[in-house]
Amino acid sequence: MRDGGVSVGTYASLNLGLHVADDPAHVVVNRRLLEEWAGGTVAFATQRHGVEVAVVDPVVGTDPAPTSVGEFDALVSATGAGVAILVADCVPVLIADPVAGVVGAVHAGRAGLAAGVVQEAVAAMVRLGARPDRMRAAIGPSVCGECYEVPAELRAEVSAVVPAAWARTSWGTPSLDLPAGVAATLAVAGVRSVERVAICTLTDERFYSHRAQRDGGATGRFAGVIRRTPPDPGRVGGDR
Ligand SMILES: [Zn+2]
Repeated sequence: MRDGGVSVGTYASLNLGLHVADDPAHVVVNRRLLEEWAGGTVAFATQRHGVEVAVVDPVVGTDPAPTSVGEFDALVSATGAGVAILVADCVPVLIADPVAGVVGAVHAGRAGLAAGVVQEAVAAMVRLGARPDRMRAAIGPSVCGECYEVPAELRAEVSAVVPAAWARTSWGTPSLDLPAGVAATLAVAGVRSVERVAICTLTDERFYSHRAQRDGGATGRFAGVIRRTPPDPGRVGGDR
């Protein structure tokens, strides 16, 4: 959700992206608000639409916390660090193995999904002791298959790798259903418990949308954030 922060104008109000020409001081305040909500430090990365996964430990004694842990499109943690990825139409995916206490946040846009970022994140969590059959995943708000129009060649290219992403817009032209592609990819990876939030960022004004800025104008980023909470390791954080 984009409400509850201090950014103004096109970035109003809880913009968490530092790379979008918003006032960095506002973004830092917004990230602090998010950390208060999450109950601990939250790590962000610089996203590149790739498949690199970072293993994150909690930030201790560093003030302010680093603005980015590096160039990664998925962050995983087994040590209680909050991990977040930034989106504004791409798919935020949150994964937890509540038994192992391992969590992950994945930025799954068109390129990352096709390149295998979801599988890479699951594999990284397994290396930290998680098991796919115990994982619970949440697919957050993103542009939906009925809205995400792409050229026919691009649809063919992506659906050759992720068949479930093949879709048509509500007006009948080629499109990609990225959340459906993520859900199918998680299932193939052995993740049985997958919840999807049926919210389209393009049409729901509570969320930032890159594609909804029809003039090519700037907008903010919201985050998918997840953190293991020690007293109740089963709790899975929501989208904020
Ligand atoms: Zn839509």
